[in-house]
Amino acid sequence: MDFVRELKIKFGVQKIVEKYLKSHEKNHRKIQAHACRMYLHENLELLEFSEEDAERFASILASDSDRLLELNSIQTYKSLASVDRYMLLRYMQEFQNDYMIMYYGNDIIWSYDFSHNGLRFSGDVHHSNVFPIEYKTEGVYKFPYFREHFSNANDTCPICCDEFEENSFVLKLSCGHIFHPDCLENWFVEKQNCPFCRKKVTLYQVFSYDCKSMSLEDGSMNVEIQMRSVPNTME
Ligand SMILES: [Zn+2]
Ligand SMILES: [Zn+2]
Repeated sequence: MDFVRELKIKFGVQKIVEKYLKSHEKNHRKIQAHACRMYLHENLELLEFSEEDAERFASILASDSDRLLELNSIQTYKSLASVDRYMLLRYMQEFQNDYMIMYYGNDIIWSYDFSHNGLRFSGDVHHSNVFPIEYKTEGVYKFPYFREHFSNANDTCPICCDEFEENSFVLKLSCGHIFHPDCLENWFVEKQNCPFCRKKVTLYQVFSYDCKSMSLEDGSMNVEIQMRSVPNTME
C-alpha cells in the first residue's frame, strides 16, 4: 500500500470519528432536553409552569453552560422561591441521569458512507458504554448558588478566589465542593480531580476507538470503528 493512500485512510478515519461525535453530541442534547421535558410535564401544576415555559426550560438546560443564565428570563422560574429553584434543578438532574442510563442501555450503531480526499469510505461505528454508569455517581452538577443551601461548602471559588454570587450558577462535585463553571472547566482540561480536596473526578466525555480497515474491489475503503466512552480517571 502506498504512503499517500495510507495517509488518506488515516485522515478519512479521523473525519468519520469527528462526524460521528458531532451527531452523537447533537442527539445527546436532544435526549437531555426530552428528559427535562418529561420531568417538567409531570410537575407542571406543581411548578405552575406553562407548556411554553417547560419547552424553553428544557431547551435551555440541554444547551451549553453559558446559556443556563437564560433560565432567569423565564418568569415562572424566576418567581419560584430559592429553595424551590434549587430543588427543581436538583431533582431534574437526578431524573436526567436515570433517563440517560436507561436510554443508552444498548450500544449505538451508526452507518456511514462518504468520500474524503477522493477516497470513498463506508462502514459502521459501534459505540459501546455510551453513558457510563460511573457518571451517575460522579455527575458534575450545575446548580444555582444560594448561600443557605451551600452552608457546608466553600463560599469562595478555590480557583479564582472570588465569592459566589447569589443566583449565579456553580458546579458541584461529588465531594461537595463548588466552583465557577468556567474556572472548573478550564481546570479539567489539565487535571481530573477536585481542585480543593484532590478527589478524582470521572468525566464521561472521553472517547477512545479502534478501527479495522479493508480495501474493497472497487478501490473504496470499508472501515469498522469500535468506539467506547471511557471514564477519564487520569490525574
Ligand atoms: Zn472561580
Ligand atoms: Zn473536593
